[in-house]
Amino acid sequence: MEIKFERYHLQSDLRSPLEGFEKISVPTEVRVDPLTKRRSRIITWGLPSPGKFDFSNMAEKSKGCLFCLENIFQKTPQFMKEIVPEGRVCIGRAVGFPNLNPVGSYGSVVVLCREHFLSLNQLTPEIYEEGLSVAIEIIRRTTAFDPDTRYWQISQNFLLPGGSTILHPHLQVIGDPIPTNEMEWLLDASSSYYQKNGTSYWNDLVQIEKELGKRYIARIGKVHWFVSFAPIGFNEVCASAEGHGSVATLGKEEIASLARGIASTLKYYDEKGLNSFNLSIYSISGEAHYQLLTRIISRTPFQPYYLNDWTSFEILHSELTSNIIPEELCREIQPYFA
Ligand SMILES: [Zn+2]
Repeated sequence: MEIKFERYHLQSDLRSPLEGFEKISVPTEVRVDPLTKRRSRIITWGLPSPGKFDFSNMAEKSKGCLFCLENIFQKTPQFMKEIVPEGRVCIGRAVGFPNLNPVGSYGSVVVLCREHFLSLNQLTPEIYEEGLSVAIEIIRRTTAFDPDTRYWQISQNFLLPGGSTILHPHLQVIGDPIPTNEMEWLLDASSSYYQKNGTSYWNDLVQIEKELGKRYIARIGKVHWFVSFAPIGFNEVCASAEGHGSVATLGKEEIASLARGIASTLKYYDEKGLNSFNLSIYSISGEAHYQLLTRIISRTPFQPYYLNDWTSFEILHSELTSNIIPEELCREIQPYFA
């Protein structure tokens, strides 16, 4: 097993006006992801929480959107008859249909619930169970029609800081015959690790994180939840589904485990005063050394004059930052998974 947790301590000395111009030292930690070797910065200072934002006015004004019940079956697109003859995929309250503005070969939207707006603590495991089941059904049916589409993402952008233009909770399901950059990095690094060590990186990682006990959150069925050593976003929580590379092979129990972990993470975010997030499930079939990864990060909370958390550092230097020490996040979030 060759998993290295590499880190560098940087320190900035200055004379602080907050301390009568006495010298203070501000530490920053640079961590290297053990798989991709990508560097992240763990910043130890944070901006004060702006407090909870009241969404009632915003929700009231935008009610009756395309995804609301009175419009969804009249105004959203339908799948090609060869893929979904009935036009849309519905399970429980979740409804899936093609995205009118796709960004690849197959782009779909899954509307998660009837409610036009839900806060993070109202997004329950049941909502995600139904939503993920619709997403997976779309992936299964599309792959049966076009087997070359091996690379899928089930993603969620929640609220404006997360990049969503529509308030109504929904998932994006995107499939292509070629991987995204992130997928290619994960696949290449997982293969190189296997070539060198003869074992799966993902199984080794779960084992070592369990032994260390600092970042391993919980096991829900066959899904392992943990905090990344080198996060690529704020409050990053990950899951690895044992024995699967693609969501297409997940059983009911595993879908329920994923849904539970997502809802637990969102409940924690809500209690921390956060309200916006991004989520992605990287689903790739036909790759022996890869294991299905889910990643959730929080975004700067929405509020009037809110701050975009992608600065020149992230967007022009590809140097990603986290504003919480991963081990601290693990300690804080663990009770939410109990
Ligand atoms: Zn709506």
